[in-house]
Amino acid sequence: MIRTALLVNVTTCFASVEESGKKVNSLRNGKRRSRWVLLLVAVAILAGAGGWIFFTRMEGTAPVVAIDPPISAVGKAREFAVEVEDRGSGLRLLHVSMIQGDKKVALLGQRFEAGSAKAPARATLRLVPAEHGLTEGPALLRVEARDRSWRHWGKGNPALVERAVQVDTRPPVLQVLSGTLNINQGGCGLVIYRSSEPCPVSGVTVGDTFYPAQSGLYEDPLILATFVALAYDQGQGTAIALTAEDEAGNQTRIGLNHFIRPRQWRQDSLQISDGFLSAILPALTASVPETAGLSPVAQFLQINRGLRKANYEKIVELTRTSDDRRHWHDAFVRLPSAANRAKFADHRIYRYQGQEIDHQVHMGVDLASLAASPVPAGNRGRVVFAENLGIYGQTVVLDHGFRLFSMYSHLSQIDVQPGQMVERGAIIGRTGATGLAGGDHLHYGMMVGATFVNPIEWWDDHWIKDNVTDKIAGAGAAEKNG
Ligand SMILES: [Zn+2]
Repeated sequence: MIRTALLVNVTTCFASVEESGKKVNSLRNGKRRSRWVLLLVAVAILAGAGGWIFFTRMEGTAPVVAIDPPISAVGKAREFAVEVEDRGSGLRLLHVSMIQGDKKVALLGQRFEAGSAKAPARATLRLVPAEHGLTEGPALLRVEARDRSWRHWGKGNPALVERAVQVDTRPPVLQVLSGTLNINQGGCGLVIYRSSEPCPVSGVTVGDTFYPAQSGLYEDPLILATFVALAYDQGQGTAIALTAEDEAGNQTRIGLNHFIRPRQWRQDSLQISDGFLSAILPALTASVPETAGLSPVAQFLQINRGLRKANYEKIVELTRTSDDRRHWHDAFVRLPSAANRAKFADHRIYRYQGQEIDHQVHMGVDLASLAASPVPAGNRGRVVFAENLGIYGQTVVLDHGFRLFSMYSHLSQIDVQPGQMVERGAIIGRTGATGLAGGDHLHYGMMVGATFVNPIEWWDDHWIKDNVTDKIAGAGAAEKNG
């Protein structure tokens, strides 16, 4: 644009001087004037060319450099990429080096051809401290780039990006502070340990399930804790290990001393009647388009399988994060004067007109009292869910901290809202028969992360003392208040 404007100015200037020249009679004056004209034209051309050079060859914008991912530590080896781009004059060179003390190791030295210089460049690098003679400790990753501008005496605009990078080839050391883990099939335990360094990923692996640990239980941020669970179908022989990966990617995995008590689960048979189907289906099928046009039994199966699975996905999402503080104290409160109708991990066989039509495992405890009985919060916690949840009907989920959750389902009324803290025993709603329920009762569930566990342990003072509170006190570290 600027270049065009300057050329127009030159033309206009030339034309007006030429016209005025025609009107002058004196030859001498004419010669003098034409010299002026030539001079003006020369100056204008020089100014135009200078402007063009200034705005293109002398552009002052440095290349843009990015390190992907923005590494801050390197272990035995680390791959990363350097991205660089210059939209002005294009790239001239890219240098990548590691600096440690007096040592400077070149990782990349690249010159760019004039033709390809304007395209973004990406170089993938592999940093191996042992091969480059780098030792444990701090180092500096330096990326230098220059563009093709004539500035800086023809060397181009410089870009310099430096990142402090810790050379750390030692895996984290984990020290268990909670002793042997005694755990029931379908039950819980608490694991407390100290890590020698902060780790972005650290926790307990039970079979294929990972329970990420959190700091916050103790003053020392390197002491981590997590509740762990054995699912109802994880028996003796399930591998339990403590795992951690530090910032530099160094990994540690140590077996955790544990003792698993196996459990047998009950078989239960449920008769599905036409009366039951006509009572429960209208409210449930409305939210499941797949049930349209199906027979009542087929609709029931779609809900008992498909909707159950979809509802579980919501529970997985709800339990992914948890408060890093222990909200609760004392044993959990059970629905008062209630009969235990169905137990944890009952293996249910569903029958219709004498035929087996489905199998499901019951992942909570069913407690029946008077209709619309007030439901107390099992313990102090934060409400993370308070609405309808398919087969579970009107449901409340509480986060008790360190990934321990309780769940209250089939409610006829909800008295709390998400985000709210509730005290142990506070009334959070009333029992009912919403969702897939045959009559008024409370379906009470407990989870560690997204694993359903047997609530019976959490109603038991002795179990809590032996497996939770004594472990917390016995870790030999100062507890954080709250
Ligand atoms: Zn139930």
